Amino acid sequence: MKLKLSILLGVSFLLSCNSSKSTQVVAPNNPVNDSSRYWQQHVDYTMDIDFDVKTSRYKGKQTIVYTNNSPDTLDRVFYHLYFNAFQPGSEMDVRSRTITDPDARVKDRISKLRPNEIGYIKVSSLKQNGQSVSNKVAGTVLEVTLNSPIKPGEKVTFDMEYDAQVPVQIRRSGRDNKEGVALSMTQWYPKLAEYDFEGWHADPYIGREFHGVWGDFDVTLHLDKDYVVGGTGYLQNPNEIGHGYETGEVKRPDKDKLTWHFKAPQVHDFTWAADPDYIHDTMQVPNGPMLHFYYKNTLDEEKKGFWKELQPKTVALMNYFSEHIGQYPYDQYSVIQGGDGGMEYAMCTLITGNRSFGSLVGVTSHELAHTWFQFVLATNEAKHEWMDEGFTSYISSLAMNEVMSQNKAFPLENSYKGYIYLANSGKEQPQSTHADRYEFNQAYGISAYSKGAVFLSQLGYIIGEENLRKTIKRYFNDFAFKHPVPNDIKRSAEKVSGLELDWYLTDWTKTTNNIDYGIKEIKENNGISSVTLERIGLMPMPIDLEVEFNDGSSQLFYIPLQMMRGEKPGTSPRTVLNDWAWAYPTYTFSINRPKSDIKNITIDPKGLMADINRSNNKL
Ligand SMILES: [Zn+2]
Repeated sequence: MKLKLSILLGVSFLLSCNSSKSTQVVAPNNPVNDSSRYWQQHVDYTMDIDFDVKTSRYKGKQTIVYTNNSPDTLDRVFYHLYFNAFQPGSEMDVRSRTITDPDARVKDRISKLRPNEIGYIKVSSLKQNGQSVSNKVAGTVLEVTLNSPIKPGEKVTFDMEYDAQVPVQIRRSGRDNKEGVALSMTQWYPKLAEYDFEGWHADPYIGREFHGVWGDFDVTLHLDKDYVVGGTGYLQNPNEIGHGYETGEVKRPDKDKLTWHFKAPQVHDFTWAADPDYIHDTMQVPNGPMLHFYYKNTLDEEKKGFWKELQPKTVALMNYFSEHIGQYPYDQYSVIQGGDGGMEYAMCTLITGNRSFGSLVGVTSHELAHTWFQFVLATNEAKHEWMDEGFTSYISSLAMNEVMSQNKAFPLENSYKGYIYLANSGKEQPQSTHADRYEFNQAYGISAYSKGAVFLSQLGYIIGEENLRKTIKRYFNDFAFKHPVPNDIKRSAEKVSGLELDWYLTDWTKTTNNIDYGIKEIKENNGISSVTLERIGLMPMPIDLEVEFNDGSSQLFYIPLQMMRGEKPGTSPRTVLNDWAWAYPTYTFSINRPKSDIKNITIDPKGLMADINRSNNKL
């Protein structure tokens, strides 16, 4: 696998980081983005955090070195202050209280937080290259008007001091989650907003999804000595810490707080969690990263047993994703009990721990898969939620089928069912809708996860399964450590298959056009049957069709969609018919046998096309 990849990728480089561990990061051999047109911003964080576990407050000192790789001069910058969402009257609070189907974890809980339970980040000082700079808090965003603009190619240093309070766990982040995990520290620091070819992405924190700037993190955390910390980044001083990290004799300074020093190269987020009751286990993936597991000693014995059994399954999942997408590029990955469900972060996940074994592995599979579809292929989740949730759902369904020996003939079946339910519900909005702007949370969920998974599965129907497998690897190869957009997965698929796919991306992701093909009629003339199909839905598709005869034989037909300008490769003997050009509502072809020979005719016998009405697909 590694050999194959090194051939495929051609180049690899060692990240320049003074980490005690080096990280082999795959450098994408990128025919698209090596062009001078692609650029992305870069930011390096150095943080020092002094944490008080009694009050759940902390003082932060943060220096960032921001490089403007854009062709534009910037006169403002923006930071996310995500913890400010957990205050009565915030956009997150009000949206949750006014949407028809609020997240059960949020509902009206933010509105009831008392002052010592809310979250906040209060910036006390901000300097641009040593000079105080004007800034203003607007909800969850800090708006900074620069003293002097940042020119293209210029580096600038921002020094910030702030005071923060960890909110009671409501959503994703917080203290004292429902399983008693003390600190789930996600979206917890003033985080620079991303500026890309579309401009600033200073989205308020309303419901969901993130986008960040690539860079290196150096984080020092002063925390009560009884707490065990897991998260993003390599611990630099394991023998001053112990707690399962030690590589030799532990020599702890005789102080109430331990100083944890982490480095994380080439990430766009930094997360940690801490609890005094964590068990900390490790397991090495052969030729891969070290896995860390953190779960509470207070779980019952059966659940703790599940966390042990999870460990070899995580090794198998890691290998599955590395083989089917691209080599996992970091030296470490952590599965951490925390948060309020499952959520992906750089080099780690926070998931709740009190689960059945199947659920524990299933959620770990999904969140681990996000390492590729979000943390390495860093799409803007707020705008293209289907590219991370959908692709993750697709690959983790396949991984679970193998790793858990589920033996499902069609692992994506539930994704299709979910999408078809949504398409017929009248509540569907285009997938290009911003993640916060869905009228119903359920419509967001099905659109992002199910319809997003079907995007890839159905792409396999359109270009062929082998081409789909190659497309996923090519997409990784071309766009790892960048911010791919929808057109990029389409271009990867076009380059692999040689087929034109603009129609697919457009109709599937930017409209609610749906697929409905049917068999209209069969006629017979001089012993020859003539079959007429109809396109009822607006969305075009090529057609696979199977005819079964009464003598037990069968014949496969393939009707190319004309605007694809080609045919998918055939895997079994088939008859390729003339193209069907989209605007024609019907299409007629002949079978050289009388009607009485025909047992039945089926459009898309494998069920890979998300036809919203399959009742007319068979005759
Ligand atoms: Zn997800």
